[in-house]
Amino acid sequence: MDQLPLTAVPEAAASVATGSGCHGGRETLDAAARAAGKSATMDKLAADYPQGPHDQPQSMCPAFGSLRVGLRMRRTATILSGSACCVYGLTFTSHFYGARRTVGYVPFNSETLVTGKLFEDIRDAVHATAKPEDYDAVVIINLCVPTASGVPLDLLPKQIDGVRIIGIDVPGFGVPTHAEAKDVLAGAMLRYARNEAESGPVARPRQMVDGERTVALIGELFPADPMGVGAMLAPMGLALAPQTPAREWRDLYAALDCEVAAAVHPFYTASIREFRAAGRPVVGSGPVGVEGTEAWLASIGRAAGIPDSVVDLAKQRVLPAIRGALAAAPIKARVTVSGYEGSELLVARLLSEAGAEVPYVGTACPRTEWSEADRQWLEARGTHVQYRASLEQDVAAMRDAQPDLALGTTPLVQKAKELGIPALYFTNMVSARPLFGPAGAGSMAAIVAAQTKGRERFSRMVSFFEGVGTPDGAGYGFKDKPVDPPGFRDRQRKLRAAKAKAEESVGT
Ligand code: SF4
Repeated sequence: MDQLPLTAVPEAAASVATGSGCHGGRETLDAAARAAGKSATMDKLAADYPQGPHDQPQSMCPAFGSLRVGLRMRRTATILSGSACCVYGLTFTSHFYGARRTVGYVPFNSETLVTGKLFEDIRDAVHATAKPEDYDAVVIINLCVPTASGVPLDLLPKQIDGVRIIGIDVPGFGVPTHAEAKDVLAGAMLRYARNEAESGPVARPRQMVDGERTVALIGELFPADPMGVGAMLAPMGLALAPQTPAREWRDLYAALDCEVAAAVHPFYTASIREFRAAGRPVVGSGPVGVEGTEAWLASIGRAAGIPDSVVDLAKQRVLPAIRGALAAAPIKARVTVSGYEGSELLVARLLSEAGAEVPYVGTACPRTEWSEADRQWLEARGTHVQYRASLEQDVAAMRDAQPDLALGTTPLVQKAKELGIPALYFTNMVSARPLFGPAGAGSMAAIVAAQTKGRERFSRMVSFFEGVGTPDGAGYGFKDKPVDPPGFRDRQRKLRAAKAKAEESVGT
């Protein structure tokens, strides 16, 4: 193809090129994307990932989720198309989290965006990258501005010399969290792989055992958790299929070939659609604590057509060990839970089973049928479950509940420290530990016990630093409270008023 059919609307492209993005306003960017021919994409994103109370991401750029999934896959190249500042932030974050892989980038300016040359640049980059000796797949991700400008990734070739080309739109004004952005790419890859498998023979998955019945876990889990879950399933004659998001292209075929898909993280809407299209039953919740594990094994057994007596055998193998681990390390504390990983309800269940009082759990992820059992279980025990929780709701709940420990996102933990409440980062501390089976039961109690002990120390710190770092007392090395230069604030106020008046008289 030599000449690009210019589907982008020039005025829309020009307007988004001039300083929109995270702060450009969701409605404006959504309207621009629709005017530029992306209505179907925006409708699909809105259906899969319903928006929450906040109209912009309150965590990192959502596209990080897709980028991370691409970067973690073997023989997969990932290319970003977006504003340089967004790409800088995403690349930095990827390497901060140890990507050790090249992030491709197709830059643009107002001219290449408006004329459609950006699409040609993307197409050239994809052709230059898609070498079958290096890659199985090339992923190209449209960030906010190219999506709002209608850069038509669907016009890229579907494959080049056998290398699959996957183009996705992951705008911050259409995908609310980075968790759901993982699903955008995972779902697109599963769809591609399912179509391949349905049209003819595909490469044999590396560790495939003929005739083995498997369960495909959906969600990025702590590395030891799948092993523990595999041991729980073994008495039922079930093994684990490769996880979603996958680590290698041919793993996608093995995952789709499962007996049952387990939506342990409940927000993978597009991926689940592909498992269902492949005729696989899907089970929600996860094997946390005694009751969670018992219910989950029963659901898996039912979906896989395993006789009750065999399921009971599997339960008898694992439940006493979980019960023992919980009894050995009971949690006596009030804990609030907030996060954007998608496992918040499972963590809250485990804490609750271990004896903690959990008045509030907030998740940035949406309500789906796959966490319904967890929601009901928690609410029956007096926990308030808040889907699509905003930071403001999380903070208000923490202030109200005055917990012994708050698990939460970075800004929530910062707020907790200011209030003298012990707090732990959900992503770095809770998600970096096992959650399932006896290992999960033991590890959660250990961190809660260690952190709640610090409450008295926190109170002392708060009183020691009282007033330091707040606006009028900010700074280091003052013996007394700093004094404003006389008349300074008054002069600044007058200057601002004069500037506003001058702008008003010029008009727009
Ligand atoms: S791509 Fe990400 S960082 Fe860039 S404007 Fe969109 S949401 Fe913000």
